[in-house]
Amino acid sequence: MRIEQGLGLSFWDFVCRWEDPEGRIALNYAPHFIFEDEPETKFVISLMHQESEYFKGTTRCRFLTEGSPDAEHPLGQARCGIYNFRPAACRVFPTKFDPANELAVIHDIPQRSRDGDDEIYDLCPRPWEPEDLDSVRPLHDLVIGRYEMQFFRNIAEIWNRNPRPWHVFPDFLRMVYSRRVVRQDELSQQDQTPKEDMQDSAVSAAEDRQVIPLETPRRHRRSA
Ligand code: SF4
Repeated sequence: MRIEQGLGLSFWDFVCRWEDPEGRIALNYAPHFIFEDEPETKFVISLMHQESEYFKGTTRCRFLTEGSPDAEHPLGQARCGIYNFRPAACRVFPTKFDPANELAVIHDIPQRSRDGDDEIYDLCPRPWEPEDLDSVRPLHDLVIGRYEMQFFRNIAEIWNRNPRPWHVFPDFLRMVYSRRVVRQDELSQQDQTPKEDMQDSAVSAAEDRQVIPLETPRRHRRSA
């Protein structure tokens, strides 16, 4: 939602669904979604990838801005093209919470981000050190990232109870996220016993599937 609103893009410009039958992408962390048009397949929701401009046959995040290779940088230099709007998962890299949820821990980074022997997918040339990171920001990002991921898991649980086709998914998401801010009097009208967790309230609103359009405009029908 942040990318759509901040950059004026459509969901279909940058989001895709990846088949993940064995859970190798979700890794017991990201939720799986089921869709009515392919009910036997488990999907994860992801940013689109595109072929690299300079390294044909390899792919990169659609938002990675590539610089051309030169003598000093034979693999080129690249940066996030949507840095201020990047997803929570990107913001927390390379940290995770410690078991007590009090400290940010730099997790073990694999040498390569994908299987295979293409060096373009190599990750950090040296281990990250605490000095590389701000001392406050990673904790803030981790707290937000944890909240958003739990919210997204709740969305998946509700969606998967009664899967609809992929092409109505963004309307469902927009509706759920638009319900995350309400007036206090509206909240008491909805429920005489205000819920402690606003997240539950927003997600439960999604259970009214009647508000989800069954058809979307043609320009939104592109499938990834
Ligand atoms: S930080 Fe995230 S959004 Fe930005 S280029 Fe990397 S993967 Fe893409």
